[in-house]
Amino acid sequence: MFAGNAAPILLIDPGADGAIVDANPKAAAFYGYSRERMRSLHVWDINVLGHAVLPAMHAIASWEGGHFPQRFRHRLADGSVRDVQVYAGPVVVAGRRLLLCIIHDITAVIEAEHFNRLLLESVQVGVCGIDRDGNFTFLNPVATRTFGFQHDSELIRGHIGAYLTGAGAEVEDWRTHPVGRVADGGEGVEALDCTLHRHDGSPFPARLTASPIHNDQGFVGVVVSFTDRSGETERDAQLSDLTNALPGAVFQAELLPDGRVRPTYFSAAAAALFGLPAASTPTDWPSLSPIMSRRRWAGLRRALRRAGRDGTAWEQEGTVGLAEKRWLLGRALPRSRPDGTVTFNGVLLDITERRRLEAELEQAAQIDPLTGLWNRRRFQQALDEAAAALRRNGRPYSLMLIDIDHFKRYNDTHGHQAGDEALRRVAATLAGHSRRLDGLARWGGEEFALLLPEAELDAAAVLAERLRRAVAALAGSGLPATISIGIGQAGIAEDADSLFRRVDAALYRAKAAGRNRVERA
Ligand code: GH3
Ligand code: MG
Ligand code: MG
Repeated sequence: MFAGNAAPILLIDPGADGAIVDANPKAAAFYGYSRERMRSLHVWDINVLGHAVLPAMHAIASWEGGHFPQRFRHRLADGSVRDVQVYAGPVVVAGRRLLLCIIHDITAVIEAEHFNRLLLESVQVGVCGIDRDGNFTFLNPVATRTFGFQHDSELIRGHIGAYLTGAGAEVEDWRTHPVGRVADGGEGVEALDCTLHRHDGSPFPARLTASPIHNDQGFVGVVVSFTDRSGETERDAQLSDLTNALPGAVFQAELLPDGRVRPTYFSAAAAALFGLPAASTPTDWPSLSPIMSRRRWAGLRRALRRAGRDGTAWEQEGTVGLAEKRWLLGRALPRSRPDGTVTFNGVLLDITERRRLEAELEQAAQIDPLTGLWNRRRFQQALDEAAAALRRNGRPYSLMLIDIDHFKRYNDTHGHQAGDEALRRVAATLAGHSRRLDGLARWGGEEFALLLPEAELDAAAVLAERLRRAVAALAGSGLPATISIGIGQAGIAEDADSLFRRVDAALYRAKAAGRNRVERA
């Protein structure tokens, strides 16, 4: 039995300084010595305690009855050290009182225990065990701290009830808590959002998982793990503050692998931006689809797909709304998921006011404040466009330069303010008699320029004559004004500057020839 036993066994003589009387083949193999050599060793040769192990050996040898497990560390022949559990008990062999020691190598168990302890201590999750009555059997440091304690010894054997249901609750109330039901033999619960309580009674939001623990005796208790979500809810609140402080809305949308776009979230401000009723759910396609035309939706999808494919930010401006349109600026960043979906997280900002101001400024930058006609800058732009259309498509255009005759004299006679009024009336007369597509500008002090797209010289001459007469007719209403006009049509390869010089020369000739007349360039 001794020789064939599956476990290493040593026979030790406590009376002979702990001499190893015998070792079974398994023990010889375990320690790495021959059996002969084993028989020449003492316990202090194999125990890392050395001679200090002798008092323990004597104590064990003095016990009567069964084998008592003791943990030691033993050194093998190759110098390595193993954790062993020694079941040692007294036996009498041939009249000698010896110690029979069954050696159990528990190095792996000790390592696993050590690892488990480290694991439980390092996770950022509270872990505790309770028995079926709800008493704590273990707590890791996070659980201990979260409940408001320094050391788990303050809680071990304490009851979990107050931490589940709050201090004021009846002791038995914990049984109705999901964790209590698990302790009653119910099914485990997972990722349960609930409120737990600290030692001082203060509640905190937690997400917990409770699983029954079974051993070979059956159900013995519950392991409860939880995370304190106070920080999370604080972050959620901050995020919602940020969202609400934004002059616009926050949204999330998904670009599916098949190219479809699906909005998944809009913050509360979105409905107002879209001109939808406050109670509507903009993520529903039937609510959302009428805020833009089909063409605009298609353009938006294209832009999102491009951004998703290139991994670049999506940015677009456009008008949306049911009845009243608002200008929105959208900007979002794509994030690709392993399943091929791209998630866009972004903002929608109301830029209606900005757009209106820009349009006003743009307008102001093009208009002559006295007459309301185009200013020189805007006219130059229109002239360049006409020149380009001629170059590209051979479209004809003509130019007219108009100058009020003897205006200095008028000013001198009637005063500057009356001069201004006269300028306004002449401007209005010119505008009233030119075509809609013509561009009329105040070119300088009392000079005007008229651009005539699609007009050849003869047509321009007819219009010039009409303008000259209309201004001259103002005399009938108390404004004795005449104008001189130079006209010209752009030559096939002529640039705008050259045309301008020719027409200016024609105007000069009209003046020289006695004023109140039209001269062709
Ligand atoms: P001509 O027939 O040769 O064009 O004679 P003219 O007096 O019109 O020409 P000139 O260039 O000598 O004088 C232009 C005058 O136009 C000078 C200035 O008093 C007047 N003028 C220019 N701009 C304004 C303006 O904004 N308001 C007023 N009231 N007068 C202006
Ligand atoms: Mg002049
Ligand atoms: Mg003049």
